[in-house]
Amino acid sequence: MQATWDNSYARLPDQVFVRHEPVPVASPTGLALNSSLAEELGITFGTDWAEFMAGNQVPNGADPITQAYAGHQFGHWNPQLGDGRAVLLGEVSGNFGRVDIQLKGAGRTPWSRGGDGRAWYGPILREYVISESMHALGIPTTRALAAVATGESVLREPGALPGAVICRTASSHIRVGTFQYFASRKDLTALAALLDYSIARHYPQAKSAEEFLVAAVNLQARLIAKWMGVGFIHGVMNTDNSHVGGITIDYGPCAFMDNFLPTKVFSSIDRQGRYGYSNQPNIAAWNMAQLATALLPLADDQNAAITRYTEIVQSFSDIFETEYAKVFSAKLGLGPCTESTVLTEQLLKMMAHAGADFTQSFRALGTDDIGYYVGDHTGFDLWHDAWMQSADHDKLNSINPAIIPRNHIVEAMIAEAVAGNMQLFHALNDTLKTPFVTPQNPDFSMAPTDNELVHQTFCGT
Ligand code: AMP
Ligand code: MG
Repeated sequence: MQATWDNSYARLPDQVFVRHEPVPVASPTGLALNSSLAEELGITFGTDWAEFMAGNQVPNGADPITQAYAGHQFGHWNPQLGDGRAVLLGEVSGNFGRVDIQLKGAGRTPWSRGGDGRAWYGPILREYVISESMHALGIPTTRALAAVATGESVLREPGALPGAVICRTASSHIRVGTFQYFASRKDLTALAALLDYSIARHYPQAKSAEEFLVAAVNLQARLIAKWMGVGFIHGVMNTDNSHVGGITIDYGPCAFMDNFLPTKVFSSIDRQGRYGYSNQPNIAAWNMAQLATALLPLADDQNAAITRYTEIVQSFSDIFETEYAKVFSAKLGLGPCTESTVLTEQLLKMMAHAGADFTQSFRALGTDDIGYYVGDHTGFDLWHDAWMQSADHDKLNSINPAIIPRNHIVEAMIAEAVAGNMQLFHALNDTLKTPFVTPQNPDFSMAPTDNELVHQTFCGT
């Protein structure tokens, strides 16, 4: 494996990371390699690529570390999390910028606590497919470079399951929880170094903690609006899974909605509905408030900073509303204005009432088949007339995807992969690369039957 490495995170103060190499696996076998992403990043792999992507060999020039972070998990403070099963090999750099190369499922680390440091096929292939799909949908995210079978089993609730490692790439792995880790320890040296580093990496135009916070809040609000536009539910928006650079990170029990239900929750561990679809903006704002709190110790004038940071966090909701209106107006073929907000709300209400499939309903706008999904509603004709008059119908099919990774297909893909057949994985992954093209294989765009419907997703790490 050849790449241009430059490991800037490993030049930060010692407290920020722990040097640690991936733990080799019994028998690495390649499951998937993202050649086009490798090419974009100037990475060349030989036939032994699975050795590197499993962590059995460390590439020349890499400087493997694990990162320190803390976090609020479901609102409860956990002062020490850290990379319990991930190893950051380093960063590759080039004219595309600087990109983290991280192995997840790479064995026990100094942060593992009781965990085994490993992962099974399920979460690995799920993250691969869903993160690549998000990228194809134009949503900022970590990406999948490779997946490798370890030849080892991992013990999970259902029993022994085949192990796998994913190599993911990211604009960084800096989380709200990374800031919280140092703020809670009153380690101002590390906190200041982390802030300078994050500014240089994500918001080079920012000149202060305040400007950093403004930028982070802005991108976070935009990100959540984009999630909402494709019916995506992250599922575990803990502060350790909330990225300061506005990208989607840590795909756990995440899912795309089939039938539209604003309060939809998938994750089996989210019993209160904290991370349900329509609660995501509230939680993202709450996470940004935790980021603001973590930045406070660096301010000279605490009172002034509290006032100012509070305003910035409160601005989240206006920014989100504006972005959300933009996203949904575009989905309806409208410019953002009061009328399009009203038409969006009415359509969503009719969809919720009918339990209409989210993706198919919006896609049906492009062929004016929306009546099939919500036409029974008493308000439909009025809505339809108003919408027909104002909408620009030409671009609808390039905005409303025909295909998203449907839960029942993702589950079937995992089951087949566990049985040794990767065909469905490859077919699904290929189709998801062009989400706005009506797929050849209608199975991938069809809504699930009642029998196929997936009601819950499991962290199943
Ligand atoms: P997550 O739920 O994946 O965001 O992980 C939350 C925390 O648990 C992080 O610190 C992870 O590194 C850690 N973790 C998750 N799964 C494992 C595992 N199998 N072994 C060790 N640590 C883990
Ligand atoms: Mg996490």
